Amino acid sequence: MQVIYSDRHTGHDPQQFIVRGRMKRSNEQPERATRLLDAARAQGHTVVAPDDHGSGPRAAIHTPRYLRFLETAWERWQELEGASEEVMPNVHPFPDQPCTYPDSLVGQAGWHMGDMACSIGRHTWEAATWSAHVATHAARAVLDGERAAYALCRPPGHHAYADRANGFTYLNNAAIAAQQLRRRHDRVAILDIDVHHGNGTQGIFWRRRDVLTVSLHADPHVCTPFFTGHAHEIGEGEGLGYNLNLPLARGTQDEGFLAALATAHDTIRAFAPGALVVALGLDAHENDPYRMLAVSTPGFARVLGEIARLGLPTVLVQEGGYLSDDLGPNLASALRGFEAAA
Ligand SMILES: [Zn+2]
Repeated sequence: MQVIYSDRHTGHDPQQFIVRGRMKRSNEQPERATRLLDAARAQGHTVVAPDDHGSGPRAAIHTPRYLRFLETAWERWQELEGASEEVMPNVHPFPDQPCTYPDSLVGQAGWHMGDMACSIGRHTWEAATWSAHVATHAARAVLDGERAAYALCRPPGHHAYADRANGFTYLNNAAIAAQQLRRRHDRVAILDIDVHHGNGTQGIFWRRRDVLTVSLHADPHVCTPFFTGHAHEIGEGEGLGYNLNLPLARGTQDEGFLAALATAHDTIRAFAPGALVVALGLDAHENDPYRMLAVSTPGFARVLGEIARLGLPTVLVQEGGYLSDDLGPNLASALRGFEAAA
């Protein structure tokens, strides 16, 4: 399988991440990607550097003002007296009140940054745009006839909305890949198996019926992003009935995960998509630092095997999965399981 990877992510290493009131270095560290790359290389996959696909693919998903903000925020932040090294929000609009887009950079940070887990450093824009190029490149490879391609994206993307970063993510790589696949296919499905709900992806396609969004994740009653990921969220307007959430009880193991996956597949088959994007988080693993679900390493081979048996042209887009000795083996198991069944 083609593995698409760019080393332009390495300068993005967020040092400001507030969790339970404490500031710490982000869990989303460059070493994640190098461990995943090493695992893919050790399996003999061809590693391809992406082309620069320009601004079009990201502009097809994200708002112009958000893209302008992301590109310029770090330099503008440096001009603020006493500002920190990384851009962090400290004020947010209230969703139940009329709000006006602010001129102030501090206000804009609050508007476009949904939480304290998406700080913007000197190299964040570079990393995010190349992560999007990685996803675009993988989608184009599949459009050109590859059965599947793996986009080793960092930073990940599935929490990013059209107009807002959050949860370690800035540009929604899975959404960008799906939109590319729409060039040839009338209907595209996104299946998100990251342990966290793919809230940004849901939001982007909430009112659309051409892209089905399905997410398996830890129950948002106990797990971030809390506000979304509940089973009753099914889309609106044109998109009513084209979003499926399958929240799972904390500690769910392989069999429970695979049972939910079978439900997801029933819906995907009925939608009859021409192609599939898998938002491939590996943080549902039993030893992931989040410890929300308990999928085993061999379990990822079974999960990806079932996904391959859908028989669709498939773009695998890396999402979460954090540092543990199992991170590389989990990817290896996933890719092996997909290829064995493809
Ligand atoms: Zn996650």
